[in-house]
Amino acid sequence: MRVYTEFEDVGYSPCGIPYVHGREIPAFENLILQDKDFYAQQRIDVHYTTRVTRLDLRQGAVEVEGEGRVDFDRLVVATGFDYEPPGVPGDALTGLYYVKNIRRAMEFDELIEEARHVVVVDATPLGLEMATALAHRGKETHLVDPHPWLLSEVADPEIMKPVEDSLVEMGVQMHLTTRLEGFLGDGKVRAVSTSAGEIPADLVVVCTPKQPNNRLAREAGLQIGSTGGIVVDERMATSVEGVYAAGDVVELPHAVTRVPVQGLTGSHAYAQGKVAGTNAAGGRRIYQPVYVPWGMVAGKWMVGGVSFGETLATALGVPFVVGQAEGISRARYYPGTTRIRVKLLAEPKSLRLIGAQLVGGEGIKERCDFLGVAVWKGITIEDLAYMENVYSPAIGALSEPIALAAQNCLARLQR
Ligand SMILES: Cc1cc2nc3c(=O)[nH]c(=O)nc-3n(C[C@H](O)[C@H](O)[C@H](O)COP(=O)(O)OP(=O)(O)OC[C@H]3O[C@@H](n4cnc5c(N)ncnc54)[C@H](O)[C@@H]3O)c2cc1C
Repeated sequence: MRVYTEFEDVGYSPCGIPYVHGREIPAFENLILQDKDFYAQQRIDVHYTTRVTRLDLRQGAVEVEGEGRVDFDRLVVATGFDYEPPGVPGDALTGLYYVKNIRRAMEFDELIEEARHVVVVDATPLGLEMATALAHRGKETHLVDPHPWLLSEVADPEIMKPVEDSLVEMGVQMHLTTRLEGFLGDGKVRAVSTSAGEIPADLVVVCTPKQPNNRLAREAGLQIGSTGGIVVDERMATSVEGVYAAGDVVELPHAVTRVPVQGLTGSHAYAQGKVAGTNAAGGRRIYQPVYVPWGMVAGKWMVGGVSFGETLATALGVPFVVGQAEGISRARYYPGTTRIRVKLLAEPKSLRLIGAQLVGGEGIKERCDFLGVAVWKGITIEDLAYMENVYSPAIGALSEPIALAAQNCLARLQR
């Protein structure tokens, strides 16, 4: 088996990069899961820093820079994502950083050391992680985003408010409802031009939304969907026999709405890669439509959700009823207890759970995982209102915040 990558390394966790910049993780080397010998021993022939320039699907071959034409029996396309181009003047200046390749991250990390003013463009999940990391690092950090609240494409405003407040407390200067207009400088960036004026910048971290890196697939004639992702079936098979695709380059149906979605997470990419690889090797595995549990640390809070929140449901025209509550993560008298706000969305008639959003100081990931399964298995608000829960002062309060939100939803409906 042969693997091509443009990068110098494989099998490292890009997800950990912001935490090395923030110094929660001491070194980039900690993010590398296996050394290169490991893959050679598994008889995986990795061609590093080697670019594939064309897929010739009719002839069953790929064209590779420096190697020429290479035949294949089965092909898996996993070319990942590109950041949406900022689309403003000055984007060729040096000092603009796109977080992706670990080697570039190592170089950028040294520049952070010298920088005084850093601007983060777009309050996407990565934008929030990078703003948090730079604040930890003590840099003057500016976050610029055209929308009125953070993570506006996936999360609801009241869920994100504590995150915004905490970032401000940490010293991040917020420029919301502010349009990026250009990068200014002579060779190297010195400022960012916005609809609200200029912001000085020694470095800029561009965290625009992810889009599928579909050039090879598109030019080869693979079917591309409405999001720009490669269309695959449940075996991760593309529109061409013997060609599979996985990860950030594909689109998949959202399980509740059936609307295609792309730009999912590393956990989705990992699971899809295993399905695509197994099927390419002659096995039979199936990948399901996605419910998209997500979560992250942003500022001083954890935030997460499943499926969608009120904003996205409204934009999609999905009818819903809401149940909300604020509970606590441990017994109220136990040190370290934090608030947990839960917002549940359910179908109006059946009361089946269709989405959730959460913010709190701890215990968000586990609740998002649980609620993901709950949406998948058709659990209702009534089920959640009367769920059993663990009560142990150091790890859980008597009243589970999810149950409280469900009970509030039922009470509102009865009124
Ligand atoms: C900074 C950062 C933080 C993240 N944090 C999280 C997180 O906390 N949780 C989470 O679940 N996900 C996270 N993600 C997302 C996650 O890393 C991605 O979803 C996942 O890596 C996608 O895997 P992939 O294989 O589709 O693409 P990638 O991992 O991007 O791999 C694409 C590969 O294709 C190669 N390639 C592309 N074009 C060519 C070509 N023409 N020739 C040769 N090789 C080519 C590239 O060299 C690369 O090796 C994060 C991503 C980043 C960048």
